[in-house]
Parts: sequence; structure tokens; C-alpha cells
Amino acid sequence: MNQETDRNKDIDEKLQGEATIIKSTMKPNGRKLYVESYGCAMNFSDSEVVASIMTKKGYTTTGNIDEADIVLINTCSIRENAEDRVRKRLTNFKNRKKRQPDLIVGILGCMAERLKTKLLEEEKLVDLVAGPDAYRDLPGLIDEVGTGQKAVNVLLSRDETYADISPIRLDKSGITGFVSITRGCDNMCSFCVVPFTRGRERSRDPQTIYNECDELFKNGYREVTLLGQNVDSYRWNMTSKGEIKDDTKPTTNFAQLMGSVAIISPDLRIRFSTSHPKDMSDEVLETIAKHDNICNSIHLPIQSGNTEVLKRMNRGYSREWYLDRIAAIHRIIPGCAITTDIITGFCDETEDEHRDTMTILKEVKWDFAYMYKYSERPKTLAERRFEDNVTEEVKSARLTEIIDLQRNNSAKKNLKQIGKVHKVLIEGPSKRSDIHMSGRNDHNTKVVFPMKNSKKGNYVLVKITDCTTATLLGEIIEIIDPAK
Ligand code: SF4
Repeated sequence: MNQETDRNKDIDEKLQGEATIIKSTMKPNGRKLYVESYGCAMNFSDSEVVASIMTKKGYTTTGNIDEADIVLINTCSIRENAEDRVRKRLTNFKNRKKRQPDLIVGILGCMAERLKTKLLEEEKLVDLVAGPDAYRDLPGLIDEVGTGQKAVNVLLSRDETYADISPIRLDKSGITGFVSITRGCDNMCSFCVVPFTRGRERSRDPQTIYNECDELFKNGYREVTLLGQNVDSYRWNMTSKGEIKDDTKPTTNFAQLMGSVAIISPDLRIRFSTSHPKDMSDEVLETIAKHDNICNSIHLPIQSGNTEVLKRMNRGYSREWYLDRIAAIHRIIPGCAITTDIITGFCDETEDEHRDTMTILKEVKWDFAYMYKYSERPKTLAERRFEDNVTEEVKSARLTEIIDLQRNNSAKKNLKQIGKVHKVLIEGPSKRSDIHMSGRNDHNTKVVFPMKNSKKGNYVLVKITDCTTATLLGEIIEIIDPAK
């Protein structure tokens, strides 16, 4: 998604470097594909689209890189260290090609779009480059590589949403799935590379979104996350006859889309990511309040608590506006969990401006925050307009202050949950123990508990008995849905 989608750390943890394993239903062509995803949930979702496109052309996918004929790396450009990680990985593949000369290595996603032919021509790290809107062209690009050519397609589209492609799911949990509802972003936040790597914002046909969520539910999934760089600006303005309606009045907005997905089943949980403070409407909040199965959890990136910094970031809202949206959430959805993203050390950030971020941390008391030092990205508005002039030392010191305060806030929130009962959707066994299960509550907090007779996909009531700063620990008191 952006600096914002990148916040989905738990998702990232699951996905980084993760291979997508899919069973082909088409006649295989004997060639095996290994896909590795880095970065945000959007990339993960895109890898499933890629897997679907390739499977239709007869490729089979594998989770074992040693048997792959084609390796595709879906990449992230959000920070320099994300790119460094991918470069390191590509260098490994370069060495591998010495042993396996016919191995095809391709790069997809934001890094492909940002660097275009550089990795191919100058650094000779890959055979193929495909930007986020060029995935339908992948089989053709692979054929081109087969004829000895270097293949590139980084054209950005104004209307590609892959709406008609039914993604092939990463068959790991089979319980939670991502569904893309928009692509690209029109916001031009000055620190962000996304508008350049993913192009203009496009909304996907609501019927295809509904169908995909419905199919997931029928296949046993119990949670969908509606994904977009800025989900609140989702707007579909085609009539049922395929005519474009008056652009100022969408036939479906985000609140309506979410409401339509929520009625698929009360047992299907709905989440969404990411909201933008300037676009999050009361109608969206009222829709969340109306449907029990839309999770009471909102990720609302603030980035800075100072209005002047927000102006330099081109965020389109002030500190006061953000606080007004927080007040609206508390008014309409009492008890809703709120999380955020914070960037510290943005260009020209003074000590007083940093203090404003500290005071807003005390005021809002987010449940959780993803906190970063500013990392300048090439070609962004900030790179062109401002100097990255806060020293690393100051950035680090400010980040430490922010993290300490936020950790304290998160710990206090979690401590308050001890003794309370939470409805949890079980995602599978805990990573750290064979006898424990792990899932998430309505607030998107991880909950770990002894498994008893519970299974993946069950909804259970868990009484919280202890906590860490990021996880709640407890005991099952009831298995609500033992049938799955
Ligand atoms: S430009 Fe702003 S709203 Fe758009 S993806 Fe980047 S950070 Fe998010």
C-alpha cells in the first residue's frame, strides 16, 4: 500500500520471503514457478493474482526454490532497507544461475516499477521486469526471455484492477484472505513513492469484490481484509448498464461496499486497510457500528502530530482534523481500537514539532503504532522540495522517545483486558507452542491460549489472564463454532 500498508507488520511477518504454493488445475506445461513476496499485504494479494495468471498458462507453483524453473520476486520500495534486502536476495539468485543457467529470475512490484531496466541492464540481476499493472503480460514476457531477450513491461494503467481474475490463495491458514478493492493512489504524500510505482487510483467493480468475498466464505475462510492504498476513497461510478454516472456521485462508495460484503454471513469478519484521515467519513464509521461482523478496529495513520509537518508531508489534514476524526470514532463506535503510523525526523522537523507528536501520542493513546525514521525515497515530492536534514542521531533519539511512550500506552491497554472475555477467530497453532492456538480478537490483537478441543477456523470465547505489550494470553471458555 505505501508507508501505510507497510504498517501491517503482522501480515508482513507472515509474508516476507514467503513462497506462494498453488496447485494447478490446468494441464501443466512442466515448468515450475516460485513466487516470493516482500512488503505489504497488497503485494501478497498481487502475488496471488500472478499465481492465477501463470497457473492458467499451465505453470505449476512450488514452495521449493530448488525445483523452480522460474523465480518471481514481488518487491517493495517503501524504504531503502526494503530494497537492500531484495538486492541481496537477487544477488543470491545470480550465483544460483551459474549452477542453473536456464533459471529465469524476474522482479515484480514497486521496485520493478521504480528501477525499470536498471536491475536488468546495469546490474544484470534479473531476466525480466514487470510492474504492478503488467502481470497479465507475464507469460508472454517469460516466453520472450526463452528466446534470449530481456523482457520488460512497466507500463502503468489507468484502469487495470485485475477484477476478473480469481486469485489463487496462499494455502497456509485458509481462514483469512485479502481482497483488493482499489489500486494505485492519487494522494501524493510528499514522502511516498507509491503514486509513482503503482500509478493512479482505480476502484474495482463492487460485484467482483462481493463475489470474491462470497467465494472465500464458501471455501471456509472466516475473515476478509479489504485492501487499498486509501480504502475510504473507493468509488465506483458505473451504472448496472455499464454507463459512467455523474462523477461526483458514486453508485457505490466505500461504506456501501463494506456494508454489502458484511451481509454475506455474520460469520465472515470484515477488516479493511488502509484508511486516510482526510477521507474517513462518518458514513464509514456508522457502517462499522451497524454490522457486528465488521471489526471494531481502525488503522488511521497520522504520520506527525504537527500541522506544519503534515503540510510539508502533503497529507491534506491538520492535527485538529485528525483529532476530530478520533472523536468521531469514539462517538460512533465506542471502544473501537485505533492504530496508527508515525514517521519521525521528516525534513526540517524541529524539536517543537517533534514535541507535538509526543503530545498527540499522550492524547490519542493509540492501541498500537508502527513507528519509523524518515527514509528519503528517490523522485518523491519531498526529495525534490526539501532537504533530508534531520541527522540520523536526532532521528534515532526521537524514534526511541516515541517508541517508549507508545509501548507504554499499548501495555496499559493490554493490561486492562485481563479478566475480560474476547471473541477470537483461531488462525492456527501458535508459532511458539504445539499445545497453544493463536488468533485475533475484534481489535486485531493477537490472542494465544491452550487449544483444548478447538480447531483452526473456530470462533472461541477466551478469558484473558495475562499479556505482553503486543499479545493477550488466556483460556478458552467456550467454542462457539465447533463445526468447521
Ligand atoms: S501517497 Fe499517501 S495515501 Fe497514497 S499510498 Fe502514499 S502514504 Fe498512502
